[in-house]
Amino acid sequence: MSRALVTGIGGQDGSYLAELLLERGYTVTGVVRPGAAAYGNIEAVRDRIELIEADLLDQASLAAALEQTRPEEVYNLAAPSFVPASWDQPVTTAEFAAVGATSLLEAIRAVDPSIRFYQASSSEIFGEPRESPQTEDTPLDPVTPYGVAKAYAHFMVNSYRRQYGLFACSGILYNHESPRRPLQFLPRKVAHGAAAISLGQQEELVLGDLDARRDWGYAGDYVRAMWLMLQQDEPRDYIIASGESHSVRELVQCAFAHVGLDWQDYVRVDPGLQRGAAELHHLVGDSARAREQLGWSSELDFDQLAHLLVDADVERLQALATSMERQ
Ligand code: NDP
Repeated sequence: MSRALVTGIGGQDGSYLAELLLERGYTVTGVVRPGAAAYGNIEAVRDRIELIEADLLDQASLAAALEQTRPEEVYNLAAPSFVPASWDQPVTTAEFAAVGATSLLEAIRAVDPSIRFYQASSSEIFGEPRESPQTEDTPLDPVTPYGVAKAYAHFMVNSYRRQYGLFACSGILYNHESPRRPLQFLPRKVAHGAAAISLGQQEELVLGDLDARRDWGYAGDYVRAMWLMLQQDEPRDYIIASGESHSVRELVQCAFAHVGLDWQDYVRVDPGLQRGAAELHHLVGDSARAREQLGWSSELDFDQLAHLLVDADVERLQALATSMERQ
């Protein structure tokens, strides 16, 4: 039976990855912050995984976690993940997204250099991309504090692979969504808005920039790529993306149409909600390497993803309304 250690297990990706690893027969241990509270995302598998407390900035606590669990694979998903918040917390973002990855790499080197390591890298490392679509060879040019921190970790993975021969991979993942995303993330906000309006629970949805574009995929598909990366003969970095760029307007149109509504009757634009200039980039990824070498492909396309998000919120809101009626 294989053993895996996952940091950030209570997050969106951590929870989908834990489910995938359990399905494949792994013993799964999640690293959580000291004093961490409840984790809704992993409730369904909570009795099948072990949780262990460790501080990403405390290499000794990470080494102790590795000693205790002896994993063959480590997935480093823990980091502040909401890009706009990195402007408010650039130091914390750098500490956990950049230095945290380095302390984990150091702990691995000290405890067991044969451990296979996955680093949650991000399309934000390309910032204002110098080419489109981006590939693994596109130069890094991050512009947000989040992107800069992720670029640091990305380079460290590369550096440890070369210097110490570690089996370490960066998955350069583009935006991926699911019903487990909090409402501050735009696709979830749109899905929740469409669902609530269709149920008569909300009157309008206020958004920032309808022309902003992103390369969106489904989290369940993307965690499969993480696992595949660690099953290869050689460690490499891989772009994981849908390869399609869609505007917020298209997403809104698709989500509202799914519940039989014309979005133009309900969506109001507030320019005050627009993201800063450094976030107005058009990233789109080319995952040819992942498709060819990992045999990876996504199962959900853009429309199916939007429908999945809306359906989940309709279901959630209906269940909530029913339970409130009963009280
Ligand atoms: P989530 O925000 O859902 O999960 C992040 C996890 O990191 C949570 O479990 C959180 O713990 C943990 N975490 C955050 N800050 C700290 C900290 N200071 N110390 C310890 N743990 C911390 O993000 P996702 O699951 O969506 O993303 C997973 C990883 O992939 C992240 O590193 C993210 O940056 C990266 N990524 C995500 C993309 C996406 O579109 N989803 C795209 C590209 C990269 P807690 O539950 O206690 O808050």
